[in-house]
Amino acid sequence: MKTAARVLLAAAIGTPAVHAADLPQFDGKRLAQDVQVLSSDAFEGRAVATPGEDKTVAYLVAQFNAAGLQPAGDLVRGKRAWTQDVPLGRFEITGPVAVTVDDGKARTAYTQGSEIAVRAAMNGARQVVIARAPLVFVGYGVSAPERNWDDFKGVDLKGKIAVVLINDPDVDGGEGNFGGKAMTYYGRWTYKYEEMARRGALGTIIVHEPAPAAYGWATVKNSNTNVMYDIARQDPAAAHSVLEAWIQRDAAAGLFQRAGLDFDAAKKQAQTSAFQPVPLAGVTFSANFAVDARVIHSKNVAAMRRGAVRPDQYVMYSAHWDHLGIGQPDATGHAIYNGAVDNGTGLAALLALGRAFGSQPAPQRSVLLLAVTAEEKGLLGSEYYASNPLYPLDQTAGLINMDALSPKGPARNFTISGNAKLDLLDQLTARAKARGLAYTPDPQPEAGRFFRSDHFSLAKRGVPAISFGSGNDWIDGGVAAGQGDKDRYTAVAYHQPADRFDPTWSFGGMARDVAMLYDLGRDLANSTAWPNWSADSEFRQARDASAGMRK
Ligand SMILES: [Zn+2]
Repeated sequence: MKTAARVLLAAAIGTPAVHAADLPQFDGKRLAQDVQVLSSDAFEGRAVATPGEDKTVAYLVAQFNAAGLQPAGDLVRGKRAWTQDVPLGRFEITGPVAVTVDDGKARTAYTQGSEIAVRAAMNGARQVVIARAPLVFVGYGVSAPERNWDDFKGVDLKGKIAVVLINDPDVDGGEGNFGGKAMTYYGRWTYKYEEMARRGALGTIIVHEPAPAAYGWATVKNSNTNVMYDIARQDPAAAHSVLEAWIQRDAAAGLFQRAGLDFDAAKKQAQTSAFQPVPLAGVTFSANFAVDARVIHSKNVAAMRRGAVRPDQYVMYSAHWDHLGIGQPDATGHAIYNGAVDNGTGLAALLALGRAFGSQPAPQRSVLLLAVTAEEKGLLGSEYYASNPLYPLDQTAGLINMDALSPKGPARNFTISGNAKLDLLDQLTARAKARGLAYTPDPQPEAGRFFRSDHFSLAKRGVPAISFGSGNDWIDGGVAAGQGDKDRYTAVAYHQPADRFDPTWSFGGMARDVAMLYDLGRDLANSTAWPNWSADSEFRQARDASAGMRK
């Protein structure tokens, strides 16, 4: 054991007395130090492809190196680098967006930003020209064989614009087994665009309704009408239709009316498994706009503790390193989005885990620590890794992601982003219980948080994956204090320049929680177990498809 590299000072609660001297210790002071450095003004808010990226990547590499880990990134002339190059597509609409709908009698223009939100095309087109394309309503646009649900019924979408509802068919009490108010991946807007692209649709228009979307039109407008990013793809047209857009509910209702249809009646029909796609007969859709498309370069940072017995099997930890950079100043004039909690805390946790694994005898399986880029641009660093894995996903036993942990607490509970059923969560819950911590499921499953954190990029490819979240029931002050603090953070600091380091933060809860995540990963790395998703999970099929590769 390399005593020198050991993390000193125990802040962990419940460290077993036996062999305590040999166990890695997780220290709140060290966590604080890393958060303070990474969220300092010198790191300029850690924006992708800026000097802030260079500083952040260099800091992470130096820390992983000092922890005794191995570089685990791209293979360069037979040697692993510390980083994986992540080319990203940057797409921006230049000039006006002309959108018109024609019903044979009248031609109506829709205004970009107010009635419709057209995204910059990410299929590589520099000029989007759609002339009088037919429209077809495809309900919720869900194809879920494991749930016996198919909204398409063989309809051909080539050359057509698909109009689709947000969320999944049972959200308003409709038929189907999609978790009721909770959202499955079929309900998420990303799924809608992906599924229509797979089916070769010319375009997709998602009807925005505030309740099933879980956010208002302002959010739709802000996140869809500015610069868009995607991973650089070999065949972008396979992943993106030429048109991806949202439409306001009332504008959509007007569109249905022109075709002699009633929106609410059509929606009701879409909530039944007997639903058949409905052409918006006699109505055509036209669009014309220019897109500036370019490639920018960023990096994931990858470090490894190589397994001693089964080095070609992997346990992964991840945290995104990027944040929002320098932007609009707040009322105090501060313009650097320091991102101390989001996600300085996750990075500090990742470094602590790296130091712990580096200080201990090698586990049986390899442990991969991945700091991903461009989470704030749509989970892109993790998506790039999942599309271009450095190590086979079918040999990856599980992933634990950390994003925006609480530097306060400690809490009597923990949570994960969104709702999911998988062995990895059961194992974490059992471990937490032994430490007197309860698992509290996401109280707002309809918000679809499971699909909004980096673990999801691997989950949707079948890798058992969760994003750990700090609890809201503080030992000191209960839910009133813990949830109160979360709500305050969301209101005054989340994605704002006020997300800054505070020297009064104790990091006591985090130190304890990271020790628990270490135990979970170490035991998985020292086992031959392959945890899986529950039988009714939408990710089970993807995992089972590669079952033959795992012994
Ligand atoms: Zn964020």
